[in-house]
Amino acid sequence: MADNEAFTYNGGKVEPGETQDIRYGISETYLGDPVRIPVTIINGERPGPTVFLSAAAHGDELNGIEVVREVAYEWDLADLAGTLVCMPVMNVPAFLAQQRYLPIYDRDLNRSFPGSETSTGAKRMAHRIYQNFIAPCDLGIDFHTSTRGRTNMLHVRADMSDPAVARLANAFGSHVIIDSSGSSGMLRTESSASGTPAITVEMGEAHRFQRELIDEALAGVESVFAEYGLRGTSTVNWPGWRTVISDENEKTWLRADAGGIVDMHHDRGALVHEGDRICTITNPFKDDNVTVVAPFTGLLVGVLENPVVYPGNPLCHLVELKDKVRRVVEREQSGAPETTL
Ligand SMILES: [Zn+2]
Repeated sequence: MADNEAFTYNGGKVEPGETQDIRYGISETYLGDPVRIPVTIINGERPGPTVFLSAAAHGDELNGIEVVREVAYEWDLADLAGTLVCMPVMNVPAFLAQQRYLPIYDRDLNRSFPGSETSTGAKRMAHRIYQNFIAPCDLGIDFHTSTRGRTNMLHVRADMSDPAVARLANAFGSHVIIDSSGSSGMLRTESSASGTPAITVEMGEAHRFQRELIDEALAGVESVFAEYGLRGTSTVNWPGWRTVISDENEKTWLRADAGGIVDMHHDRGALVHEGDRICTITNPFKDDNVTVVAPFTGLLVGVLENPVVYPGNPLCHLVELKDKVRRVVEREQSGAPETTL
């Protein structure tokens, strides 16, 4: 079999069989010091696809950092067929500040791809990341969590109308796939549009390492590696049931109609039936409870974690399940605790 090729980026080259830890400059601070992101490139001796694994495009979304780090440093990749480009912390300024957006005019790095050499600070950073470490890849996975104060069950977001993206999304083996093309400037959207199929994995909440979700995501990465032949030892994972949520499904963010303190009665991943009580909103006097019920039967993909709301704030993300899937989930949830989902 022919050898793998070298991986090249601006200013460097990683030979087959070689691993490099790079601190790559993407900008400069107010002091003129470099802003550098950690990149680990693992180039297998055997040929295969080049895959990026990225996290912390939003600086306070930490679960994915641990997923990417464990793949790079704890997995035995001696027999890797292909190349891994691991970027555990893309948005270093926001990571240092422990906030979602770049602390420079609160720009969203994940709306700034593929970037530009001559535009805003965020787009210049995005450009350096994208040109060097995303564009050369054959496919990739970008790890996120819910926005601060909320949590979600692990799910994939992908444009299922693109067969190459759908193959990747299915290979990850999650129970839930939300089918959407995404927004302009999103890493997965721009990457997929320019020939590097990419998915977003959403998992849990910001500011945390959540072990059970990290393990679930690692199983997903292993399943993707099996699908594309990066590791001969693993097999593609079928999660037991799967629902692809598209525009045909009912889905909604239920919003609070009263301000107050929220008592959430279900965890992320729970199945609720039409009319079930999802949460109650109280105030410190407990004399004015508002009960929020499920408008249709579905899965609580995301729920509030920080239990305070103004009217209009989101309470939970409820998505409809088709009957066949719903029956499987009902069976599973009647016999198992919700956290196994
Ligand atoms: Zn995010």
